[in-house]
Amino acid sequence: MKPGRIVKVAGPLVVADNMTNTKIYDVVRVSEMKLMGEVIEMRGDEASIQVYEETGGLGVGAPVYPTGEALSVELGPGLIEPIYDGVQRPLNIIMDQAGNRITRGIDIPGLSRDAKWDFKPSVKPGDKVEEGDVLGTVQETVLVLHRVMVPPGVRGTVKKIESGEHVVTDRIAVIEDDNGKDIDITMITRWPVRTPRPYKEKVMPTEPLSTGQRVIDAFFPITKGGTACVPGPFGSGKTVVQHQLAKWADAQIIVYVGCGERGNEMTDVLIEFPQLTDPHSGEPLMLRTILIANTSNMPVAAREASVYTGITLAEYYRDMGYSVALMADSTSRWAEAMREMSGRLEEMPGEEGYPAYLGTRIAEFYERAGKVVCLGKDNRIGALSVIGAVSPPGGDLSDPVVQATLRVVRVFWSLEDKLAYRRHFPAISWLTSYSLYVPNLEEYLLKEYGKEWIDNVESALAILQEEAELEEIVRLVGLDALSPDKRLIMETAKSIREDFLHQNAFDDVDTYSSFEKMVKLMELVLLFHSLAEEALNAGVPVVDIALLPERERIARAKFTPEDKLDEFEKIKDEIRKAFKDLKEKVLAEA
Ligand code: ADP
Repeated sequence: MKPGRIVKVAGPLVVADNMTNTKIYDVVRVSEMKLMGEVIEMRGDEASIQVYEETGGLGVGAPVYPTGEALSVELGPGLIEPIYDGVQRPLNIIMDQAGNRITRGIDIPGLSRDAKWDFKPSVKPGDKVEEGDVLGTVQETVLVLHRVMVPPGVRGTVKKIESGEHVVTDRIAVIEDDNGKDIDITMITRWPVRTPRPYKEKVMPTEPLSTGQRVIDAFFPITKGGTACVPGPFGSGKTVVQHQLAKWADAQIIVYVGCGERGNEMTDVLIEFPQLTDPHSGEPLMLRTILIANTSNMPVAAREASVYTGITLAEYYRDMGYSVALMADSTSRWAEAMREMSGRLEEMPGEEGYPAYLGTRIAEFYERAGKVVCLGKDNRIGALSVIGAVSPPGGDLSDPVVQATLRVVRVFWSLEDKLAYRRHFPAISWLTSYSLYVPNLEEYLLKEYGKEWIDNVESALAILQEEAELEEIVRLVGLDALSPDKRLIMETAKSIREDFLHQNAFDDVDTYSSFEKMVKLMELVLLFHSLAEEALNAGVPVVDIALLPERERIARAKFTPEDKLDEFEKIKDEIRKAFKDLKEKVLAEA
């Protein structure tokens, strides 16, 4: 195809004319350096191109080569383990070849062409197959069985299927389509990142994505296939929340898209992630994780692409029938990239200079989450949960990115700096956060954990609400002015906050709480409360209750290892006994 010609360079934006052969969202190669770019606007034969590499040194008149293809990723075995940049270039290989600074125009494919995979067919010649059917599997890592699927749009009869060691570009099957035409199938396929991958239908997510974080699992749960937003000011714990979810959420595949605010922050992720251990298998977490990293010294446009690259890879594993969780930290950087490109295109700005289509883009992104019936005759179920951090300037929730995100996601974990200052972590506010999935989950929770759990969660939230109201009064007239039952509410609320909600991500035991342990811990706190209520009614002074040494047992209960959960029954007995003694003492005195 005839190359176009640069007429203008403005930072990451390049304008070229003579681009009649190009469509919007096509990839182009800019100048003899072959820098990668994507057409984001066409006016006549003039294309505006966002360039994913530094544009320094580009001049007017340099050629622009169309590729005729939309910005796409490679899909196939080998996606897990390499660390990618926003346009799926393997950073670790680039660093080996080119050192720390990315050499411009470097063209390394997303999937290794040399790695051999042992393909085990699950169909045989003569079988009828359709899009999404599993042709066979390869063991991608010890933790991930990769299902090689019939690509979308292909159906017919298997003519040939070749087991054994193959590189991704080898032909592993031949499918004869309904017109008698042979289609060669390899393990590698390509998919345009801005187009959602197809599925049969979306189904209602009804199962929790357990995260091991009590405030989330108990109060503001997310489902497998759900969406959540974590906005919060700098230092409030967004990154720790995302890392905790990556480590502990019961998803089979984790996709982590990091758009670093500061260069070293991403470096932390790059260093930290490879050291993490998968708690379920003891293997490195990287063996089921896809890491996409944009350091801040990479051009802003690459961040824009990275969320699409990430979600496309996530959809691909969802299509295999896995539960996938994608974390994007932080989507504000993505929105800022949009704003910068929009400004350079001289589009009419919307709120705070963000483009008018900000809300649409954000909605389209989160729409790609969900629990789905995958393509393929076996009707397997896949789920893609998406959790986006947002870092609004000054933590201001009226920020357009926060607002646009809250319009589409169903869970809001509101991180508050007030809590972070008090070292209450996770600093997720129990008063302003919400989960719209609670009704969807009720049936599941009822079945698994019974009515008592659902009631306990409601009581605990009600006590915390009441505490917030009473705090006003306490501020005006002091704690002593409260009636004994209200003082008990204050005591129990404190216990819910400190003994249940507070969870130290850096403590070996407390970092993760199974559902079972969480249920038991809540039972302890509320058992104490209900016995205390009874005792108050029997005339026990509230100070005596507050001074009971069993409170200390409750405070330490969260450090009980998962294999010693029977301890909780012992603590309950101790609490019951303590209250019995108290009541007897009061009776004896009376
Ligand atoms: P952000 O990404 O919002 O800027 P971070 O996630 O980096 O904030 O958290 C800031 C600091 O807060 C962490 O370095 C850590 O010391 C503390 N922190 C956050 N969450 C927790 C937690 N769950 N347990 C213990 N400490 C936490």
